[in-house]
Amino acid sequence: LLPRARSSQESVFARMSRLAAQHGAVNLGQGFPSGAPPAFLLEAARRAVGTADQYAPPAGLPALRDALGADLGVDGADIVVTTGATEAMGLLAQALYGPDDEVLMLEPVFDIYLPQARLAGATPVTVPLRLTAEGGWTLDLDELRAAVTPRTRALLLNSPHNPTGRVLTREELEAVVTLARQHDLWLISDEVYDELYFEERPTSLRALAPERTFTVGSAGKRLEATGWRVGWVACPPGQAGPVAALRQLASFCAPTPFQVAVAAALPLARQSGFYEGLREGYAARLHLLARGLRDLGAEVFLPGGTYFLMARRPGWEAEVLVEQAGVAVIPGEAFAPSQALPPGLLRLAFCKSAGELEEALARLERFC
Ligand code: GLN
Repeated sequence: LLPRARSSQESVFARMSRLAAQHGAVNLGQGFPSGAPPAFLLEAARRAVGTADQYAPPAGLPALRDALGADLGVDGADIVVTTGATEAMGLLAQALYGPDDEVLMLEPVFDIYLPQARLAGATPVTVPLRLTAEGGWTLDLDELRAAVTPRTRALLLNSPHNPTGRVLTREELEAVVTLARQHDLWLISDEVYDELYFEERPTSLRALAPERTFTVGSAGKRLEATGWRVGWVACPPGQAGPVAALRQLASFCAPTPFQVAVAAALPLARQSGFYEGLREGYAARLHLLARGLRDLGAEVFLPGGTYFLMARRPGWEAEVLVEQAGVAVIPGEAFAPSQALPPGLLRLAFCKSAGELEEALARLERFC
């Protein structure tokens, strides 16, 4: 095998899920819900299996591209459906980053962005989000501007941000757009947590710079079915054709019956208030977990969005907790390969039942 294959490593999420299973731990590591997806989604899938079992067009089923277009307020012709948002991010790396290009991204950084950029021959360059004394995360826009070089090709953002939960403000995004226009950069915006926010609705970057923004989304995150592998990219006008042509080289198309089901579910989710219910449920579980952790003496950093929170407490380390406390979490360092994060930060997922969160807290209390 080539070095790029030999040096590839098991993802921290897969690893922590494996250790959780091995140690019988409550899994607050990998971000997937422990509950079932909504009934309207499951029923649509049951109807689709047996009737929509062959290939879909590589760009996606027309019904799904139209449903996404209507939901996102974009032209369905600009949408490419992918096999999960992970594939979408890898596809964009292949489509947009060339050898010797630099790609700017924020650190802490979702782990796959770095190897995906390197696989395309490009160099990822990170700009820190810094933890403040008040427990928020700041982006220094001057630092971001200073990181642009003649080789910078693209700027990759993720808001709501995994793992910090930081939601970029409209003002920050406007500054990013100004910078991108000055230097003619592509913008990649990973918005898989677009419906999971706890304050005001996050601004979608594409609304500010439709001519240069590729927005990535996820049916798995929105509709609580991460194993279905249905994601998408909303491309700038005119770019979907080549992106879809490149996309067919990997898995040809995303699973057809799940595309049918997601196409049917998207308008239902919007009309029925499903996302409002999702946010209410997550806000309650966020506060259950945050309160419990604080009661145990942990410092908790509340997210503006996503289903993750970050916390730390002396003596708590991911490797130790999974083995000795029976609680799996993700170590903060997994998201900070080049810049030292404040030590001891852990990411905990609260997309689990209240019962599981209470069990995790009880185990942590016994461990303390
Ligand atoms: N997005 C999920 C997380 O951050 C995991 C994604 C994955 O494991 N592919 O936990």
